[in-house]
Amino acid sequence: RTLRLSRAPINGDALPGHVWSVRDITQQKLTDASRDQFIDTATHELRTPLANIKAYAETLAMGDMIDVEEQKEFCNTINAEATRLARFVDDLLSISSLEVGSIGIQRTNVDVRRLLEEAAEKIRPLMKQRSMTFEVTLSEKLGEARIDKDKVSGMVVNLLGNAAKYTPEGGTVTLAAIRQGEELKIEVRDTGVGIAEEEADRVFEKFFRSANPAVRDNVGTGLGLPLAREIARLHRGDITLASKLGEGSTFTALLPVQ
Ligand code: ADP
Repeated sequence: RTLRLSRAPINGDALPGHVWSVRDITQQKLTDASRDQFIDTATHELRTPLANIKAYAETLAMGDMIDVEEQKEFCNTINAEATRLARFVDDLLSISSLEVGSIGIQRTNVDVRRLLEEAAEKIRPLMKQRSMTFEVTLSEKLGEARIDKDKVSGMVVNLLGNAAKYTPEGGTVTLAAIRQGEELKIEVRDTGVGIAEEEADRVFEKFFRSANPAVRDNVGTGLGLPLAREIARLHRGDITLASKLGEGSTFTALLPVQ
């Protein structure tokens, strides 16, 4: 832990002297390191596709130097690079739209089953695109809960998006939910790349991304999970993780229904 000692003058003239305050800056330093990592990622995710698009477009503009087949190939590459760029920007925007106002939550009476069904529909196109088997098993007795509809939906979509992203094509993703007394248990399971034991605690840190190349191949910000956990905690709940490298992961959100 790193502590910083600072000296501040006491307000007013009556008492000469200073107050010594000790502030724990460990968290701040950690965030600084992760932020550097994020800037590296962002720079790479923005610069690389742009540089490629520019290079291929310039070659295409020269026209007569390449044949039609090559032109087609170059256009496909430009398209793929633009898609990657768009995905990163989408990620950033969806994260920031979740983050805006996340200091507080607005609870209303929510039909939990409907909320989860709607969240599943939002992610279904991605599941289809990646040829995933997407199983949704929701208890009939989920009932109502006093929760923030948009934030909990964002949390679930985020977990499902990760499950789709970090599972090879053709895998299985499951969304399951039951009510246990005064608590909702929402589970997102996948048969994907999994998370190494030594990284399991770190995935909830801001800007953290696994060193696993199977993860690095995908676009990401490292902000989805910390935000998802923050949403759960704002509801006085939490998100936990059980995973085995190479076999899959299960993220479990427990939320009191209030
Ligand atoms: P991002 O997905 O943008 O990198 P997240 O905060 O959502 O950021 O996730 C942080 C990291 O946790 C990911 O980079 C990845 O290493 C790991 N992770 C998250 N979800 C999964 C999952 N379902 N399977 C394997 N690894 C995951």
